[in-house]
Amino acid sequence: MVAAEWADIRVNGSRLCSRLAAMAEHGATPAGGCNRQALTDEDRDGRNLFVQWCHDAGCEIRVDQIGNIFARRAGAKPGLAAVITGSHLDTQPSGGRYDGIYGVLAGLEVIETLNDANVETHHPLEVVVWTNEEGCRFDTAMMGSAVWSGAMTLEAAYALADRRGRTVKDELQRIGYLGDVPAIPVDVRAAFELHIEQGPVLEAEEKEIGIVTGVQHMSRHRIIIRGEEAHAGPTPMSRRKDPVMALSLFLPQLYQLAEEHGPEGRITFGFIHADPGSSNTVPGRLELTVDIRHPESDSYRAMLAGYEQRVRDACGRFGLPHELECFWEAPGVIFDRDCVQAVSQAVAGLGYTSREMVSGAGHDACNLAAVAPTSMIFVPCEGGLSHNEAESITPEQAAAGANVLLLAMLERAALAS
Ligand SMILES: [Zn+2]
Repeated sequence: MVAAEWADIRVNGSRLCSRLAAMAEHGATPAGGCNRQALTDEDRDGRNLFVQWCHDAGCEIRVDQIGNIFARRAGAKPGLAAVITGSHLDTQPSGGRYDGIYGVLAGLEVIETLNDANVETHHPLEVVVWTNEEGCRFDTAMMGSAVWSGAMTLEAAYALADRRGRTVKDELQRIGYLGDVPAIPVDVRAAFELHIEQGPVLEAEEKEIGIVTGVQHMSRHRIIIRGEEAHAGPTPMSRRKDPVMALSLFLPQLYQLAEEHGPEGRITFGFIHADPGSSNTVPGRLELTVDIRHPESDSYRAMLAGYEQRVRDACGRFGLPHELECFWEAPGVIFDRDCVQAVSQAVAGLGYTSREMVSGAGHDACNLAAVAPTSMIFVPCEGGLSHNEAESITPEQAAAGANVLLLAMLERAALAS
């Protein structure tokens, strides 16, 4: 339980909000959002600002080989594993001020709060900035945490290039964040990631905190269906080999499939392209992507099987050759029981309204969970909007999440007596 002697410590919400505003100036967009893509000049400036703040707070800074930044507040006993928290400072091209940034700066606020209160912990505390979480400039999301946790090799990450051919390694070097600390998980006692929900559930249910118990299973699939190009006028409907006819059959069936596994099932058709793309030609080729998600293994597997069956049946009915390919899959994550428990206790101690939930999006915490006891904390964001310049949270929401993070980290780091 929350020990009496530190149960009353609270973060400084106005300091946190002023730091969020200061960070948002780097890569600020006219519409009030941020364009601070990984390893750009703007990312460098944001990193430098963070490092300066951490220096001022008395932290020791390490930068690893993939540019992840670790700011450490020493513990009372040398040699103990750290309780870490963090997220990312990079944004989408038209991103907001809070996705990722909030989790990093709330971690710094935890350290400053403990400095102000003269509180010493047994285990050291660390705030981490993970490199290239967004994966928009360099096409691998959660890259820095993937390398650190062993899900991706350093060489593969270094070789990733943006559209202009600039590689991750060159850009790390250029902005001064190619560190020499090995990018491997050292002993971690517990890891927490505080993040905006990026969805509408907490706001709709008027809950202040989401206690995140895991991340849902997700995968992306490509469907290619081949037909025969034909003139839109003279060719009778019954004689066509039209891939869109198959699409018209399985599309409603797949929406139905999501509903059968509802309310958590998700199916999204984010890309649909017919060739040759001429208004008076029956398409000869159709390509589309399908994103499938569900928090429970059995339902997720059932959705995958159902998806494949329905697409094959529909194509078969029109005699159309087709290919199905899964090009990306992230298995679901169940977060560490003790970490989830620490968050629940913190929420109870603070008296916030809350609900348990599963994250619909991927986060650095997914990679961390493979190598360290990990969990996440969500706060609501206005309208559930994220990856959007209008992304917004209130000062009260910002402080509430940071207070939960503070008490959860203290619970795992233990007070030095
Ligand atoms: Zn994020």
